[in-house]
Amino acid sequence: MDKQLALRELETEIIKNDSLPLRESRLVFGEGNPNAAVMFIGEAPGFHEDQQGRPFVGRGGKLLDEVIASIGWKREKVYITNIVKRRPPENRDPLPDEIEAYKPYLTKQIEIIGPKIIVPLGRFATNYFLPLAKITRDQGIAFKVGGRVVVPMLHPAAALRGTGAMNQFRESFKKLPGILEGVLSGTFTPAVVEAIGPAHPEKKKHPQSKLFL
Ligand code: URA
Repeated sequence: MDKQLALRELETEIIKNDSLPLRESRLVFGEGNPNAAVMFIGEAPGFHEDQQGRPFVGRGGKLLDEVIASIGWKREKVYITNIVKRRPPENRDPLPDEIEAYKPYLTKQIEIIGPKIIVPLGRFATNYFLPLAKITRDQGIAFKVGGRVVVPMLHPAAALRGTGAMNQFRESFKKLPGILEGVLSGTFTPAVVEAIGPAHPEKKKHPQSKLFL
């Protein structure tokens, strides 16, 4: 089936599901290229995203656009979404039940798009794929999780909180084109981890991931 159509059908399924949490907020399904090689996945929509029905359109979104452009990519060429597809009240952290409720939809969304690389933004999205990862330690490292390459990054909102975090965020982003090139050409082998096992292998046990440190 055409990917755009499959995504539209998936969105309709979410709209029709009355048992999903946070239904008082607007659905922010995700946007971008259905054939994207890279999928950015945030935590949950915030105020501006809820207003516009689009992911990452606030201050954090502007920074995301800027760093995507800084590595020569275009926002419309990647795909951007969140693990939880509706805004939690007062921008509170998403609850485990909320993450669980939206999980089948994110799983299907990833399956339809079939990205070469998934970039979870921030702690919640990172721990969704790598439960034991520590975002400050593991950001910018490529892991293989369940057959997919996952490269965690700081959340743009966290990067906006200080110069140190901002520098780390920008530096990690610069690694993405090299990682993608390596994955596409088959010359790059990321650290292999089980999604439910220890998320962070000792770096020294995985010299290949150092290629991009
Ligand atoms: N923060 C997120 O995690 N996602 C958005 O879409 C906006 C802000």
